[in-house]
Amino acid sequence: MIGVMTLPASLSDSASLSAPSAVCEVRNSSIHGQGVFALCAITPGERIIEYTGERVSWEETCRRNEEKGGPINHTFFFSLDDGMLIDGGAGGNESRWINHACEPNCEAVEEDGRVFIHALHPIAPGEELKYNYGLIYEARHTAAVKRAFACFCGAPTCSGTMLAPKRGKKGR
Ligand SMILES: [Zn+2]
Repeated sequence: MIGVMTLPASLSDSASLSAPSAVCEVRNSSIHGQGVFALCAITPGERIIEYTGERVSWEETCRRNEEKGGPINHTFFFSLDDGMLIDGGAGGNESRWINHACEPNCEAVEEDGRVFIHALHPIAPGEELKYNYGLIYEARHTAAVKRAFACFCGAPTCSGTMLAPKRGKKGR
């Protein structure tokens, strides 16, 4: 090769330049479709990533679900305490690919209308990030709904569903 300059090792490391501070990345998951995996060791309580996306109302969420053909996309919506939702499918980042698990190593924390994924336990590089979605689904938990929200986390305590148990009048 002609004209190729030899750079010092510290400058030629383009891999580290392309992803300067990433602590996680999206890969295929054994739980479901794609998942998010730690790229480095993460300590309990550490903030890993913000759950970003467009803020939408409940009505708009329902409209978008219908448009996309069913409740499966529901898992891209994160409900906030004030009744609004974050649509991770609209302008969201890698966080929308974090899978649900019944024995999670992360938790979602809401702060002033923003949502952050924090580590619950020490996480090793290469480990998949997971949190408990605790999805509230007010409509009847029919067989189709149960199928759409089935959990495949593989934990001995797996409840088989991403849906939180119905809780009387609490929530919506
Ligand atoms: Zn499970």
